[in-house]
Amino acid sequence: MTTASYAFLCAECSSPAVDTPTLEGAKYKCRSCGWEGDDPILIPFGNPFGGSEETFNEFGKEILTEFAKSSALPVGKVLVKWGFVPCDATGKPNSHILAGYIKAMATGMMAAVLRECERVEKEKANAGRRG
Ligand SMILES: [Zn+2]
Repeated sequence: MTTASYAFLCAECSSPAVDTPTLEGAKYKCRSCGWEGDDPILIPFGNPFGGSEETFNEFGKEILTEFAKSSALPVGKVLVKWGFVPCDATGKPNSHILAGYIKAMATGMMAAVLRECERVEKEKANAGRRG
């Protein structure tokens, strides 16, 4: 097993921003919540992500960019409506807080895509065994 064929998600917060240990005895470390441990969530990502950390990061950037472009406004309105994002006196949403939510959602989407990818791969493998 090579580390290049797996994505690591934080065991605590599911963030894909996990540093893999480079030294023997070192632990995986989450850059989002600070979690450290030996057992991150392993997500195989050969297809369709190409299998390198670089590709994975590109995928993350792209999903964040597209999500922000297409959804920041409508999703922002929902977040304001439900009280997650405060507005100033003129009714303008706090862009710093909104950006944080958008980034967190894109990260969650990325994790969800990888989990679904794992499920689909398992389903394919099971179908192969039955057939
Ligand atoms: Zn974490």
